[in-house]
Amino acid sequence: MENIRVRFAPSPTGHLHIGSARTALFNWLYARSLNGVYVLRVEDTDRDRSTETFEETILEDLAWLGLNWDEGPDIGGAAGPYRQTEGMAAGVYTEPAGRLIASGHAYECFCTPDELESGRQAALAAGRMPMYEGGCRGLGVEEKQRFLKAGRKPAIRFAVAKKEQIVFDDLIRGRLEFSSEVLGDFIILRANGAPTYNFAVVVDDARMKITHVLRGEDHITNTARQLLIFEALGEAPPVFGHFSMILGPDKAKLSKRHGATAVGDYRREGYLSEAIINYLALLSWSSKSGDEVFELAGLTKEFSISRVSKSPAIFDAAKLKWLNGQHIRRLDPATLINLVLPYLVDAGFVEPQEIPAQFGSLMRVVEAVQTNLEVLSDIVRCVKIFGAVRFDQEIVAGLAGDEPKKIMAAFAAALADREALDKDEAKALITTVSEALKAEGVKGKEIFQTMRLALTGETSGPELFYLLYAFGPREAGIRLKDAIR
Ligand code: GLU
Repeated sequence: MENIRVRFAPSPTGHLHIGSARTALFNWLYARSLNGVYVLRVEDTDRDRSTETFEETILEDLAWLGLNWDEGPDIGGAAGPYRQTEGMAAGVYTEPAGRLIASGHAYECFCTPDELESGRQAALAAGRMPMYEGGCRGLGVEEKQRFLKAGRKPAIRFAVAKKEQIVFDDLIRGRLEFSSEVLGDFIILRANGAPTYNFAVVVDDARMKITHVLRGEDHITNTARQLLIFEALGEAPPVFGHFSMILGPDKAKLSKRHGATAVGDYRREGYLSEAIINYLALLSWSSKSGDEVFELAGLTKEFSISRVSKSPAIFDAAKLKWLNGQHIRRLDPATLINLVLPYLVDAGFVEPQEIPAQFGSLMRVVEAVQTNLEVLSDIVRCVKIFGAVRFDQEIVAGLAGDEPKKIMAAFAAALADREALDKDEAKALITTVSEALKAEGVKGKEIFQTMRLALTGETSGPELFYLLYAFGPREAGIRLKDAIR
């Protein structure tokens, strides 16, 4: 197979959006699953909206997601520059634009913004679709001289051939056809020398030897223009594939209205990169096996572009949250504790300087609540049970009567002579005490409800053995004595 080269080409005009992250992921998976090269290119020609900070956060988020690149603005590569402003400075776009003028595929256009606007208005008034109608196409040398003398600087327009069918086989959507009639002569180089998006992309995709362009379907009409440019430059075009849009639950294009849309927002809220990756993959792809929970390595093995759907994907925040919980469960507690400690420190559950001394007990607490977490920040709510119990009326009522007292006393007695309990010992102790209580006619359900209420003041939470394990025999004993009183 040819050497596959794909690229992810973000514009640093905002934070990394969920939709762009999916494009990045699918390009990465395509490259990694087929032994290809994954290129990162920064498209920062829009100087008014691009910032260095956005570029930094995009690269940071991509790295956090685990989508490492083989060539890019920060690490270089044989096909640089990988930042379009650097390409501009190196004259990468002016040379091919000159070639297109020489071959008659492009021409200088001296129209002013006002002239273009009145042309647009006239077209609208006449019920025609507004597009540049080629006024400057046939300018003679003298007319050009006149404009130049008057101080006008030309933009370069692509001369779109009339009545041409543009046909391509989309990897995801099948055969697509466009008529060049609807395109109009578009600008490739602005009067200030800056390339437009369509031109810069083609020049870069050609010089970077990109073999497959996989991106959102909002770029489909751009693809038609880009194919014309490839042809005019005498370059073989890459294969194109366009993903469906991501929609909100109301079927409108996913936007801030639907909640967080930036990868960084999810990161800060306590989503794992594994869960975001997993969810993005499922947005328009499904595994052959029907499995839903994947890490990057598993996705790479299972991924196939032929299983990417062309129907729109609906963003389901609840499913993302569920997946996050699944991935939190898969972490070993030593990894999890490092991820949740910042939240615990922020919430004042533990002082930073106390962490080394408290590490063992913090670790047990984290283990105990691991399966109760859906997002990392849930830890703050979950560890509340390890704080002081407030014996309000409801709890007092729940613990009143002979039976609860008997249950608590039996556990207090069994815990009294224990120094420490590991998980298995805690389970064994519970079995022994419960068997004895059941023999006296106490119901299992009653035992567990009473103990949870006595130890935590809550009616739900981690399993009882986890509570004994996390509190340790001493603290659990003290809590039981308090509750019996
Ligand atoms: N910079 C473009 C964007 O962010 C890239 C489009 C493309 O992949 O060609 O939409």
